[in-house]
Amino acid sequence: MKKDIERILLVEPNFPIPSKSNNHKNFLPIGLLKLASYYRDQGHKIKLVRGNLKSEDFDFKPDKIEITSLFTYWAPHVKDSVAHYRKMFPRAKITVGGIYASLMPDHCKKYTKCDQVYRGVHTEAEKCYPAYDLVTNQNPHPLDYQIIHSSRGCPRKCNFCGTWVIEPRFKAKKSIKDEINKRNVVFYDNNLLNNPYIENILKELIELKKHNKISWCESQSGFDGRVLIKKPKLAKLLKKAGFRYPRIAWDWGFENYRDIKKQLGILVKGGYRYNDIFIFMIYNWNIQFEEMEEKRIKCWEWKVQIADCRYRPLDQTFDNYYPKESQTSKDYYIHTQGNWTDALVKQFRNNVRRQNICARQGLNFYSKTFERMKAKKNIIFKTKKMSRNEVSKYLTKLKIDYWFPDDVTYSDYGLKLKYEQEKKVIELY
Ligand code: SF4
Repeated sequence: MKKDIERILLVEPNFPIPSKSNNHKNFLPIGLLKLASYYRDQGHKIKLVRGNLKSEDFDFKPDKIEITSLFTYWAPHVKDSVAHYRKMFPRAKITVGGIYASLMPDHCKKYTKCDQVYRGVHTEAEKCYPAYDLVTNQNPHPLDYQIIHSSRGCPRKCNFCGTWVIEPRFKAKKSIKDEINKRNVVFYDNNLLNNPYIENILKELIELKKHNKISWCESQSGFDGRVLIKKPKLAKLLKKAGFRYPRIAWDWGFENYRDIKKQLGILVKGGYRYNDIFIFMIYNWNIQFEEMEEKRIKCWEWKVQIADCRYRPLDQTFDNYYPKESQTSKDYYIHTQGNWTDALVKQFRNNVRRQNICARQGLNFYSKTFERMKAKKNIIFKTKKMSRNEVSKYLTKLKIDYWFPDDVTYSDYGLKLKYEQEKKVIELY
C-alpha cells in the first residue's frame, strides 16, 4: 500500500434509533456517506460501521477514525463510540464531526476525549454523491430513496434552531436534476422554499415525474409558510412534483392562527387534502401548555395532523425521556420558565398522538380500549353513527374510556385539574 493511502473508519454511534429504522429517511448518516465517497475518490480505503462493533467483527485496522454526531442530547452515545474505538484502535486518530460537534466543539473535545473536532459542513465532501452502496449492503431492504440538499443554511434566525450556527451562509443550487438517479427524493434542506431557484427546481422535478423517473418527494423540514403566502403558486408546483406529507410550522402563539389558516388554504388549493398536511409545533417551550392546547384544538378544527417537537436547548447534553414514567429535570429538559412540568409535557404529547389518530382515521373520538381492539366490533361500529352525547352516555355505561380531541385536557396523570370554567375538562385515563 502506498504511504499516502489511509484506512479510514467512519462511525455512526449507537444512537437510540430502532434497528428497523436504521435506514429510515430521517436517520441516514448522509454526512458519512459523502465523506466515504470523498475518501474513496482519493484512493483511501474506507469502512462504514453503525454502532459499536466487536473486535472480532473487524477485518480493518484504521489509521483514522471519523465519528459523526447528531443532536447535542445524544452526546453520551458519541462519547461511548469514541471510548469504544479508542480502546480497540489506540493508535488511530479520532475526529468527531456533525451537529453536536459543530454546536459544542469545546464540550465535544473535552467530554468525548476525541483528538479533534470538525465544525460545520465539509465543503469538499459536500460535492460528492453519497456512497449509498455502504448502507444498502448493510440492510436487507434496498434503499428506495436518495437525499438531496438543494440549499444549505437558512436566511432566518429562529432562536431555538442551530441551523444558522452550523451553516451560517445560505447557499442555494439552481438545479438538481443531474443529481437524481433514484425514484424517490428526500430533501434535507433546512428551508427548501427559500431557495431563490425553487421554481426551477420544482419544474425539473415535475419534468422527471412526467417521464416516470421519480415517484415521490419529501421535505424533511417543514415548508416555510411565509414563502407560501408570498408565492402561493408554489403549492401547485409542489403537488405536481410529487411532494407528499407537506408540513408547515406554527412555532409562535395562538394569535398567528389566521396566517396558518391562510397557508393551509394555499396548500389545499394546490391540491393537498387537510388530513395529508402536518403542522410542526414546538412544545415544552415559551408557549404555555394552555395555549398549546388551544393551538392543538385549532388543528383539530382544521383536521390537520400535528408533528410535535419537544424542545431541548441547543446545549442540552442528555435526554432520558421515558413516556411511561414520572420523571424530573434530572432525566430530561423541562422548560419550567414556560410553566411546563413532566406531567404537562407527557399530557400534550399524548393529546397530540390521540388527536392524530382521529384525524388520520376520520374518527370523532379516541378510545384506548378501541385502539387495542379490546371492545367488541359491534360496539365500535355502533359508536360510529352516534352523536357526541350518545357516545359519552353509551361508553360511560359500558365503562369504556373515550376522549374528544376538542377538550382541553389536563389529566396530570390521574389528577383532574381545572383549566377554565367554560372549557370543561374531560379525561378518563
Ligand atoms: S426557519 Fe427553520 S431552519 Fe430556519 S432558522 Fe427557523 S427553524 Fe431554523
